[in-house]
Amino acid sequence: MALTVERAIVRPYAFDLGLRTARGRVAARRGWHIGLEADGLCGWGDVAPWPGFGVDEAQARAALDTLDPAADPSALPAPVAHGLEQARLDLAARRAGCSITALLGLDPATSVASHRLVADADEARAAVADGACALKVKVAADPLADDDARVGAIRDAAPDIDLRLDANGGWDRAAAADATRALARHRPAWIEQPLPAADVDGLVALRRISPAPLAVDESVARLGEPALALAEVAVIKPMFVGGLRRARDLARAARRRGLTVCITHALESPLGRLGALHLAAGLEGPGGRGVHGLGGAAVEVRGRLSLPGGPGMGWAPREAAR
Ligand SMILES: [Mg+2]
Repeated sequence: MALTVERAIVRPYAFDLGLRTARGRVAARRGWHIGLEADGLCGWGDVAPWPGFGVDEAQARAALDTLDPAADPSALPAPVAHGLEQARLDLAARRAGCSITALLGLDPATSVASHRLVADADEARAAVADGACALKVKVAADPLADDDARVGAIRDAAPDIDLRLDANGGWDRAAAADATRALARHRPAWIEQPLPAADVDGLVALRRISPAPLAVDESVARLGEPALALAEVAVIKPMFVGGLRRARDLARAARRRGLTVCITHALESPLGRLGALHLAAGLEGPGGRGVHGLGGAAVEVRGRLSLPGGPGMGWAPREAAR
């Protein structure tokens, strides 16, 4: 039964991130929490745009300023659609006394594999000692010779682990051809977004010559389902594709095409990360490759992230406690 929302709450948040990618250093991660109140319950959703993934902060803020809780999410910018849908799912699931994965038509695993973002060999060794199932390494911010040496040192520190390299679209065609050839000798599981999402022809051509499997991430956010024709791996972020249902549908489409699916968050607040975790748990299986770096709201033990119990998301922003 549809709930009539009695009050909508929009609260900004920000926290230190200190991440370096091919697009530069990201000092702070900012976003908003949407709360929808009805029948004495409150459902929460996360809105966290990011430059390079289609929607900037000004666009998201403009949509939030005029937000109608009953709006069709598909008419909203993707991160705002994500937050509104997540808040509705959380509210409906709390009322029904079930997890949001049940409302997504999924039967969740109790935990999922995580991968850990590392920058050098020391961090890689520490992650392996903690039981990380896979390592993710940002590349393309430095000259190829530096990336090659750093990735090689990480591979030496973790000879057997699943190693995922992410260029965030930071190479041009010639550089991507050189880089995929050079970095393939470190046996990456995949090289993610070697070219900008706008360079569809370049990605098609690169895939023919790359000795390493390719993954699309920004391309999925920009193109949706057509991006699934460009790579062997689909990295799907609910925040950037317009919500959990859309991410679920893209994941199913990717698997039908034979792609490996990796559901990840967008380094947003624990609320959004938990949404990705719930979806990843619902899709976990032979093709499930986990979420990464989940902090604050999930327990990680030996590389596995446990789902929180309780109805809805199983968690709410601290400021919502009352
Ligand atoms: Mg990526």
